[in-house]
Amino acid sequence: MPIFQDQKGKNISNFQKMIDEKKSTIRKYFDEIGHLYYGQYKDVNVDMTKDINARCESISNLYIEIEDLNTKILRERGLKKCAVCGTENNLSNAFCFKCGARFDDSDAVPADVIAPPNASATPSRDTKLVAAAIEAETEIQTEEPADNNAQVETEEGKEE
Ligand SMILES: [Zn+2]
Repeated sequence: MPIFQDQKGKNISNFQKMIDEKKSTIRKYFDEIGHLYYGQYKDVNVDMTKDINARCESISNLYIEIEDLNTKILRERGLKKCAVCGTENNLSNAFCFKCGARFDDSDAVPADVIAPPNASATPSRDTKLVAAAIEAETEIQTEEPADNNAQVETEEGKEE
């Protein structure tokens, strides 16, 4: 068995482990947000907005980090995701085979940009990315029907 294959598998399972940890942290934060919000509901004199927002911020950052890790896993498998339509392409593709969008090959992700989980003070880097990550997480992608050009045949003139 080729050694680099083992290394790839090892890298992927490490990334997957990091993703799982981040996901469980996200669940913890959502749980805490629920409790904080309820505390605020029960006692109108209590303002938990700051604590709630801090956790929302952390969750946004975690989604970005998870997206980065998913990109790294894809790279290990020789794939990359189209930023426009989300289709997985071969790393060597210059254009998305599905939607034709050009790949920006300067988007190489440095290995050391992962922020610590408690980076609640840092502003979210890219809200669009977060939205995409959330969408991927909840899997509510709406797909348009692929075949819109089917010709409608009329029955006119056939009847005698
Ligand atoms: Zn595409």
